[in-house]
Amino acid sequence: MDTVREGIRAGDIERGRFDRLICLACNMELSMQDDPEVVGTIMACPSCETRWRDL
Ligand SMILES: [Zn+2]
Repeated sequence: MDTVREGIRAGDIERGRFDRLICLACNMELSMQDDPEVVGTIMACPSCETRWRDL
């Protein structure tokens, strides 16, 4: 899983207004997910279900 920083650098996501993260492929706002097996917060696109790790 890429980190949010890597996703932004790759042009897959961007930080929108109010610091929200947007999946650029779907133009959807990412939502927060909890995964006890992953350190940090998971940000997931509700449309394509791609996930990024927010450290
Ligand atoms: Zn998406």
